[in-house]
Amino acid sequence: MINDASTRHAALDILWDAGTLQTCGRHGTYFNGSEDLTAAYKLANYKLTQEGGATPGERRAMTDAIKAAYEDNSILTECERCHDD
Ligand SMILES: [Zn+2]
Repeated sequence: MINDASTRHAALDILWDAGTLQTCGRHGTYFNGSEDLTAAYKLANYKLTQEGGATPGERRAMTDAIKAAYEDNSILTECERCHDD
């Protein structure tokens, strides 16, 4: 059973790892990177396989979480808080 908060955290981690989103080193905020969602999906599948596999439902939940997390954070192209400084 995938917990919502940890799935979201894992999704953001994957989006960052894949370069799809970037993070600000000063504020830890997420913003748009490569915009390559496919790269994030591929990385997620790879990680789930490395972790001993996942059910199709779990893979689907992770894909949905990645898409949602991307949509939540891709509006910005730079750290909003740095921009405001
Ligand atoms: Zn910042």
